[in-house]
Amino acid sequence: MKRAYNFNAGPSALPLPVLQKAQAELVDFRGAGMSLLEMSHRGKEYDAVHNETITLLKELMAIPADYDVLFLQGGASLQFAMVPMNSLPPGGQAGYILTGGWAEKAYSEAKQFGQAFEAASTKDDGYRHIPAAGDISIPPGAAYIHLTSNNTLYGTQWPSFPDTGAVPLIADMSSDILARPVDIGRFALIYAGAQKNLGPAGVTLVIVRRGFLERANSGVPTMLSYATHAKNNSLYNTPPTFGVYIMNLVLGWIKEQGGVDAIHKRNIAKAGHIYGAIDNSGGFYRGHARPDSRSLMNITFRLASEELEKKFLDEAKKAGFVGLAGHRSVGGCRASAYNAVPEETCRALAQFMIDFQKTNG
Ligand SMILES: *Cc1c(COP(=O)(O)O)cnc(C)c1O
Repeated sequence: MKRAYNFNAGPSALPLPVLQKAQAELVDFRGAGMSLLEMSHRGKEYDAVHNETITLLKELMAIPADYDVLFLQGGASLQFAMVPMNSLPPGGQAGYILTGGWAEKAYSEAKQFGQAFEAASTKDDGYRHIPAAGDISIPPGAAYIHLTSNNTLYGTQWPSFPDTGAVPLIADMSSDILARPVDIGRFALIYAGAQKNLGPAGVTLVIVRRGFLERANSGVPTMLSYATHAKNNSLYNTPPTFGVYIMNLVLGWIKEQGGVDAIHKRNIAKAGHIYGAIDNSGGFYRGHARPDSRSLMNITFRLASEELEKKFLDEAKKAGFVGLAGHRSVGGCRASAYNAVPEETCRALAQFMIDFQKTNG
C-alpha cells in the first residue's frame, strides 16, 4: 500500500502507527472478546481509556490543576453557541476578534444570545494578518474576549496571544491544538474539534478553568451546560467512545515523538519546506498570509491565474497529492500540514512546486 500525500484540511491525516494499532485492536480490544465500539462507556475497559486520555492531555499540554478537561460532541461549531450560552451574562458584552471565517461564525452565534462586539477585525485586508495588540479593543468590563488561534481557511496563526488583563480569554484552537506549546493558564476556556490535530471527527475537546465555570449562567439546558460535563467527568451521557480512544492513541504517539516541543520543531521544519518554495519562486507562488502572521498548519498560496491554479491542482493530484485546493470561500491552494503529516510529505510537495514552476514558469 502507498499512503497518499495527505494535505486534507479536516478531517485530515492521522499517524500511521495510530491507524495500525486501532486496526490491530479493533475486533478484540485487549483480550475482551469484543471491540471497544461494542462496550459500555461505564465498563472498566473504556473507563481506563477515558481517564488515561485526560491524564495524557494534562501532561502533554501542562494543563494547570484548576482546569477541567471535557470530551463533548457537536464539533467546534456547537462551541460557538455553548460559549456565549454559558459565559455571556445578561447585560454583559463579549468581544470577538475577527480573523477569518470561523471567527465570524463564532461571533454571529454570540449575537444570538446577547451583546457581542468586534474587538478587532482584519477583514479589510482579506484576513491576511493577525491584529497587533494595539488594534484590539478590550474594555475592562467585557465578559470575555474570543479569538481563533489558527485561521484554517486563510492560513494565519497568532504568533503570541494578546494580554487581556482581568478579562477572560477564550480560544478556538481547532486547527492548531498540540501543534506548539501554549501557556494554558492564560485562557479561561479553550475548545477544539478533534478532526485536525487530535483524532477523528465526532469528539470536541474543551479545557476550562473551574473558577470561570463557577460564574456560568444558570438556566442553560443540561446537555449544553459545561457544568454538567465537568461534574460527571464527561460521562453524563454516552461520550463518543471511539473518538476518545483514537485521541488516546494520537496522544500516545505525540508523547513517543518527544511531546509538544518536538512536534513544534518538526512543524516549523515542515512548513519551512513549503514556505521556502513560495518565497524562492520569485513571485510564481504568492503566499496569502502576511509573513509575520503565517500559519504552521495551513499554508495558503495563489498562482498567477485561476487556470494555472487548476493546472497545478490537476497535476498535483496525478502526482499523489490530496487536499490542496483552497477553501471554497478563499480559492487558490492550501496545504494543511497538521501534526500527523510527515515531514517527507511536505518535502515532496516543495519539490513538486519547484518542478511545476520549472515547466510552467
Ligand atoms: C474546522 C474548524 C471549525 C469547525 O469545526 P466543526 O468540528 O466542523 O464544527 C471551527 N473552528 C476552526 C478554527 C476550525 O478549523
